[in-house]
Amino acid sequence: MAKVLSRKLSAMTFAPELLAKTVVPSLDLPWEHDAIALRRDFHEHPELGFEEVRSASIVAQRLRALGMEVREGVGKTGVIGLLRGEAGDGPCVLVRADMDALPIEEANDWEWKSGNKGAMHACGHDAHMAIGLSVARLLAEQKATLRGSVKFMFQPAEEGLGGADKMIEDGVLSDPKPDFALALHVWTPIEKGKIGVAAGPVMACADEFRARIIGKGGHGAMPEQTVDAVLMAAHTVVALQSIVSRNVKPLESGVVTVGKIESGTAFNVIPGEAILAGTTRAFSNDVRALLEKRVREIIATMPPVFGGQGELTWITGFPAVVNDAEVVERLKPAFEKVAGEGNVIEFEPTLGAEDMSVVLRQIPGCYFFIGGRNGEIDAIYPHHHPKFNIDESAIILGTNAMVEATKTLLG
Ligand SMILES: [Zn+2]
Ligand SMILES: [Zn+2]
Repeated sequence: MAKVLSRKLSAMTFAPELLAKTVVPSLDLPWEHDAIALRRDFHEHPELGFEEVRSASIVAQRLRALGMEVREGVGKTGVIGLLRGEAGDGPCVLVRADMDALPIEEANDWEWKSGNKGAMHACGHDAHMAIGLSVARLLAEQKATLRGSVKFMFQPAEEGLGGADKMIEDGVLSDPKPDFALALHVWTPIEKGKIGVAAGPVMACADEFRARIIGKGGHGAMPEQTVDAVLMAAHTVVALQSIVSRNVKPLESGVVTVGKIESGTAFNVIPGEAILAGTTRAFSNDVRALLEKRVREIIATMPPVFGGQGELTWITGFPAVVNDAEVVERLKPAFEKVAGEGNVIEFEPTLGAEDMSVVLRQIPGCYFFIGGRNGEIDAIYPHHHPKFNIDESAIILGTNAMVEATKTLLG
């Protein structure tokens, strides 16, 4: 299988017809052509979390071809590549790229649209793999002048399944232990050509809850004989929405979302049970704890007001993504060098979440954002949208930014 894949890849590499639609202003260098072709190949073959078998095999094959020490099957489908610099001792810098696609049916129509029904690279992880492999290629070419080592972490299952944790369990943060960690996300809220970066929290922690509201079902015309689960669910949702507006300090950030309600079977039957499912987001541990405490209190106390009961399951998710202030300061000039003056912007934190946070909790580092928005080619849709697309110049800029950042930290 690997041989077939490699033939296909090399046929795609430098194929001018595949590049006809590119909006990259100039692709002068062989690696740039290769990076775009790789992204399109990954885009055409999306794989869901922990199923990234094809993607991982291409990654491993490429890293081996660059002369790296490669470990496969790390955290199920993850791949580690270790590049040792030849110019002496130095720190180890971890460069992470995520590989998974989303269970979304693609609504774009182009040559390289998803060929796997019900799966789509709608978050840009296809670009992350292409960037990761291009960074590996460029740094491997310069290894004679590099000190220390670079550990490439190609991670499965970022989208909510905890692939980073699985790779940590399998030893990605040891032997050697990275001194710094870097990751990026192509980002359609930011205009192409720009890099967004900030010290401190840039993405939120995300927890999940599921509540069961228990009443007593009965005839729709005889409510007095029932304890209406729909009514209790409705009041509970409204009460949950008071947490951010009344309990969280106005200058702090938090979100409580109920994204799912399930109850009832017929228009004239009062249901005896309702299920609510939702998520909470925050940047600080204090707000995170407050949100959990209040959700627990409301689920426990609101249904009894109506004669029912509430049961809660709390699922602790990823912590916030927090950038190390010192590392960010060191990297800003590197980003400016590749993006040009005025193109490095202060990133406004988002309440989205990312499991790179579990790495950055242990290793100081920086998670930064590469602008991918371009209205002229309809690259305007949010991440996870069926028409999601990026300006592919983000792949070139992302590679250059990651190479410069890594070299800066290697010293
Ligand atoms: Zn995503
Ligand atoms: Zn993503």
